[in-house]
Amino acid sequence: MSLPDAPEPAAPGWPDLGYVLRENAPLIARNTFAVPARAELLADVRNLLGLESLLAAPWLAGMPMLVLGGGSNLLLVDDVPGLVLSLALTGIRITEEDEARVRVVAEAGERWDELVRWTVARGLYGLENLALIPGSVGASPIQNIGAYGVEVAEHIAWVEAFDREGGCLRRLDARACGFAYRDSRFRREAGQWIVLRVAFDLARGGTLRLDYAGVREELAAMGIERPRPSHVAEAISRIRARRLPLPDLLGNAGSFFKNPEVPEALAEALAQGHPGMPSWPAAAGQRKLSAAWLIEQAGWRGHREGPVGVSAQHALVLVNHGGATGAQVLALARKVAASVQERFGVTLEPEPILVGARW
Ligand SMILES: Cc1cc2nc3c(=O)[nH]c(=O)nc-3n(C[C@H](O)[C@H](O)[C@H](O)COP(=O)(O)OP(=O)(O)OC[C@H]3O[C@@H](n4cnc5c(N)ncnc54)[C@H](O)[C@@H]3O)c2cc1C
Repeated sequence: MSLPDAPEPAAPGWPDLGYVLRENAPLIARNTFAVPARAELLADVRNLLGLESLLAAPWLAGMPMLVLGGGSNLLLVDDVPGLVLSLALTGIRITEEDEARVRVVAEAGERWDELVRWTVARGLYGLENLALIPGSVGASPIQNIGAYGVEVAEHIAWVEAFDREGGCLRRLDARACGFAYRDSRFRREAGQWIVLRVAFDLARGGTLRLDYAGVREELAAMGIERPRPSHVAEAISRIRARRLPLPDLLGNAGSFFKNPEVPEALAEALAQGHPGMPSWPAAAGQRKLSAAWLIEQAGWRGHREGPVGVSAQHALVLVNHGGATGAQVLALARKVAASVQERFGVTLEPEPILVGARW
């Protein structure tokens, strides 16, 4: 499952508006959980002019809107009212550079992993640890994607987004984006922003971050002694391909829960009863725990209930074995969270956006 291909051009004889609108459109092929849901209206937008004319349409005023990228970080629990907007805006280019740094600007509809490959192929440092994350460039700032010790916010110079409340295009620097762990202003102010392009500041050299979950070992197995960003991206892609179920084969949205941050006192009390429990320093007075570890300890790994289950490969990943609805996935997620709460006193929160339900 991936971003849809560029929308088909207008039929011969029809004016090209730069977008195609469909009513009551199925979304099952547009979300990596592969659950059924319909959009009241679906707009596939081909270019900025198309977006401009669509946004100017009087019937759109006040209508709810969901921007859909690759559908790899949401759970569709119900049909989607209003407009679902899919942006096929593509392009990656260098806009500024000197001996040390390069600014790369990418359009929202680019596939994230394409951008990572584009940058590492040019020897640029920064995005290599984020290789093989599904989805679009436009979604990358929404939850401040992160993996293997790196968050995308570290490399974002600015985000250009249409502000539906202000009715204007705005360029927000990284500070104004309010990034946090798997969070940003765009996620907190859902419905207000349409991210159109993102600028990344990358380096021509520097230190690679290799001290995370088997990266050094994988590089050694590849026979790489002096790694470059492209080697790190390849090593991480290989690890990810082994550890995570492929959405094309088994519907999922990656990690279903965020790693919880708890008061230090609770983390210490839990560590006494469970000496092997992983934890990391977090904000003042808090520690971050591994949601995967908690779920595994609660006995959920590999559990299956009809068409839904917890991946046998990774306890943090809920899966659709085929034919599941979003409501069934959500029901299982609630059970998992309730059992972790009961056993450890720790509250789990979902990482994907729930559409048509509240947690
Ligand atoms: C197998 C697998 C592994 C994953 N691994 C990781 C990982 O390691 N780290 C990680 O952080 N995530 C991971 N994810 C989650 C997901 O890939 C990322 O969050 C990704 O950025 C989502 O991109 P998308 O285009 O699919 O967004 P969607 O799922 O389409 O949308 C997600 C949210 O972003 C909003 N959105 C999307 N595009 C825009 C836009 N242009 N403007 C405004 N809002 C927008 C949507 O409205 C929605 O609220 C994984 C998912 C899968 C399936």
